[in-house]
Amino acid sequence: MLEIKILTAYPEIFPGALGHSILGKALEEKKWSLDIVNLHDFGIDERKNIDDEPFGGGPGMVIRADVVENALLSIDYPKDLKRLLIYLTPSGRPLKQSNLLEFIEFNQLIILCGRFEGVDARVIDSLGFKEISIGDYVLAGGEVAAQVLVEGCVRLLPGVLGRSESILEESFSKNLLEYPQYTKPHKWEKKEVPDLLLSGDHAKIKHWRLTQSEDITRRRRPDLWEKYKKNK
Ligand code: SAM
Repeated sequence: MLEIKILTAYPEIFPGALGHSILGKALEEKKWSLDIVNLHDFGIDERKNIDDEPFGGGPGMVIRADVVENALLSIDYPKDLKRLLIYLTPSGRPLKQSNLLEFIEFNQLIILCGRFEGVDARVIDSLGFKEISIGDYVLAGGEVAAQVLVEGCVRLLPGVLGRSESILEESFSKNLLEYPQYTKPHKWEKKEVPDLLLSGDHAKIKHWRLTQSEDITRRRRPDLWEKYKKNK
């Protein structure tokens, strides 16, 4: 079972999206587990502060290294457990589908959500947090980013999706974006579904979908298109 532990200053944001639909069902079925660690439980002094002003000046506050360390030490870590520490930050490496496949090979993912101006860099380095960004924009905190990462991971776990072959065909597998999908009604607002999809000819449908995928990827994502051509 994949254990997910979230370190956050806002525990009430969880489980959020993670408690619904296929993820919520998989949580009930114990295909994965979710524990939330409240950074405020490890705050300093009688005011239980978790943050302080940045050395060198500047706006905002920074989450303290000792608070993060103590929160992490509160989590059980049996020696045989394969554990990965992740800190979500806009300055991390951009998250890719291939990373999610690597992450689910671990038994325990510890995910640190930043707030304010972020987290003291010393604790990130010395405890070996992998720094991950979910995109080139800045959010107010790491909680929504954590839900993005966890949702992406959990749907890849065996038995979570109804039809596991959908993982093999979807966007980013083989560096392609997915082909367009259609359903009923056959005719909508004078627009018809491509005839070929109604032909029952599976080989032709497969070929049509591949050419659509290639076309969309070439136009929208030249970076992926170059990788696809190289591996083709
Ligand atoms: N001062 C930071 C900077 O300029 O890079 C931004 C801090 S942001 C306001 C507060 C927290 O939100 C971060 O510590 C991080 O945990 C989270 N966050 C914001 N944008 C993110 C992104 N694109 N990916 C992952 N986490 C993000």
